[in-house]
Amino acid sequence: MVRITGGKVYDPANGVDGVVKDICISDAGSVVAGPSGGSVRTIDAAGMVIFPGGVDVHTHVAGGALNFARGLVPENQRVARKFMHSPELRAGIGGMTPTTFATGYLYAGMGWTTVNEAAVPILSAKHTHEEMHDIPIVDKSTLLLMANNELMLDLLEGGEFERAKSLVGWMLWAAKTYGIKAVNPGGVAAWKWGKNANQLHAPIEGYKSITAAQIIAQLAQIVDELGLPHPMHLHQNNLGVPGNVTSTIETMNILQGHRAHLAHLQFHAYGGQDWATMRSEAPAIAAEFLKNKNLTCDVGAVLFGDAVTITADGPWQHLLYELTGRKWGNLDVENETGCGIVPYVYSDHHLVNAVQWAVGLELLLLIDDPWRVYLTTDHPNGGGFWRYPEILRLLMDVEFRKGEVRKLPPEAQKRITLADIDRQYTFSEVAILTSAGPARALGLARKGHLGVGADGDVTIYSEKPNAEGVLFSYPRYVLKGGKVVVEEGQVRAISEGREFIVHPDFDPQIEEVIRPQFQNVYTISFENYPTEMSRLHHPEIVPCNTKGPGPTVVLSEPA
Ligand SMILES: [Zn+2]
Repeated sequence: MVRITGGKVYDPANGVDGVVKDICISDAGSVVAGPSGGSVRTIDAAGMVIFPGGVDVHTHVAGGALNFARGLVPENQRVARKFMHSPELRAGIGGMTPTTFATGYLYAGMGWTTVNEAAVPILSAKHTHEEMHDIPIVDKSTLLLMANNELMLDLLEGGEFERAKSLVGWMLWAAKTYGIKAVNPGGVAAWKWGKNANQLHAPIEGYKSITAAQIIAQLAQIVDELGLPHPMHLHQNNLGVPGNVTSTIETMNILQGHRAHLAHLQFHAYGGQDWATMRSEAPAIAAEFLKNKNLTCDVGAVLFGDAVTITADGPWQHLLYELTGRKWGNLDVENETGCGIVPYVYSDHHLVNAVQWAVGLELLLLIDDPWRVYLTTDHPNGGGFWRYPEILRLLMDVEFRKGEVRKLPPEAQKRITLADIDRQYTFSEVAILTSAGPARALGLARKGHLGVGADGDVTIYSEKPNAEGVLFSYPRYVLKGGKVVVEEGQVRAISEGREFIVHPDFDPQIEEVIRPQFQNVYTISFENYPTEMSRLHHPEIVPCNTKGPGPTVVLSEPA
């Protein structure tokens, strides 16, 4: 039993806003109403603020693409992180794509206890799960890449929606994943022929009639009908391109009537005709997003400095390579998806980068419904996740933020509205942005709050910023499942996180459709395709809800 006493508790899901109260966690790792005998460790949190452990709704931390990135930028990887000072800790390599053990230590060391790996192909799911197991402390979930899966596209084009739904259910279970990720729907399939899908209502290259819009709407409907806890997670078409505001708003229209999560919205909120005229359209995007209560989003903020861009969006990565002349890696995943990798540096002198930096902050400030917008950098695409405290400072301190805006190139300042925004995040809004909101969007009922029955994932920070003015970079304590894993910013104990998966209902006859295809178009046999349950070390099946949450779940209210 652990009893945390004397700290100000921020638990917005339960309506607790800075109240000094005890939090008690049982030996079994759950929040309980009070002490119940046995030995009690008391943590004196006077002068500290207490949050539910952070939840990252969109990050990239495991799988083949990450390994490719690690290999592609050895100069970046050589920034060694020294974790070997305790016999329990394992060695790790740093850089923008830290190795598995280091990833867990870095997340926990910042106060984040749950992460959602946002892109897993079925073909590499076995490897991804092995890596996920090697990421210590944090709980994890994974999203399956489906929007360019050729078996599914064939079924949708043939009008076989019910079979496509069964296929998606079968694939989710075969890969032991948690939800569905759609990346540049149709565009990654087209990239196999060197093409893209820029027009939402034009047929996809290689298909007679099916369009990106149809893939988006039908996949969102499939996710709703399967009752998955997390809505369809969408990386939209036209990521990163000037003028993409039009297709982003059109995508919101296409999604009406379905739940959906819009990933890294910052990369989809640009005006202008080309790179020279690119400007922020964050106000228009925020206004449209606020109207569509069926949607949640994460922001995908960028920070000046190093990044590595890694995405299934192969055609975008080729364009980025042409723009930068940096190294470029392209991976093809037969029949399912693709992947591109380009190392990148965001420069505060660069007009486009300065606009991107501002757009992320504008969206976080203008979407004034923290239950529907969540903090991410689309790690490592917009910057390392360990830099989240820098973004929180910009959100909480308007004078500091305006000072940073004044450092941008004058031409960039004309193309943004950030200097006119006075909103400052409160502690309670930070707790929603970093934990309560994303936990609810992921459908993880025991995460993101500190009520009785919640997982004992708690982060405790000093109430005062450090000498550099930064809060939240250095947790005094982090508890994971009631175990103190971080003390004074140092990882002190290791635990093994769980993996959340789903087992949706699907018609098992779908196997008779899939099996013969393997003979014809896959390079591995059907029997070797699914990930066996025994490969997962601490799986937990989260139930699907086919009776709800319905097409227009409102996420804006406290429970
Ligand atoms: Zn991503």
